[in-house]
Formats: sequence, structure tokens, C-alpha cells
Amino acid sequence: MKVEKCPECGSKNLGRGEFSGYACMTVCNAAGKPGFRGSAVQAVVCSDCGLILELRVKQPHKFAPKDR
Ligand SMILES: [Zn+2]
Repeated sequence: MKVEKCPECGSKNLGRGEFSGYACMTVCNAAGKPGFRGSAVQAVVCSDCGLILELRVKQPHKFAPKDR
């Protein structure tokens, strides 16, 4: 479902951003320690109140729990 307005303030001024580089979501190993593989995270942000409406990794398959 696509987010079209902020549930907090009702604003429709939504922007998109991305966490990448050192702020990317890193895949944890079986012991719960972060490893080297990771994915950038896309975010939808309300540009009026600053609420983050949506966070989504760009490569979700990297997080599949294949060790379990
Ligand atoms: Zn808002």
C-alpha cells in the first residue's frame, strides 16, 4: 500500500530519502552480530513534522533467515 499522507499531522508533503553507506541496514549473523553484507534503506518522511512513515530495505532477500 502506498502512503499518501502523514498519519500524524495529515500533511501530504512527503519526501523520500535513503540511508546508505555506514547507515545502511546490515545483515546480522546467527550470533546476532552485524556482518559485512547490508542493504541501503529507503525512507518516506513527512516534510512537515518529520515523522518517518516507511522504512524499507532495497535488497530484502539479503535478510532471509537461511541459517536457521
Ligand atoms: Zn507529518
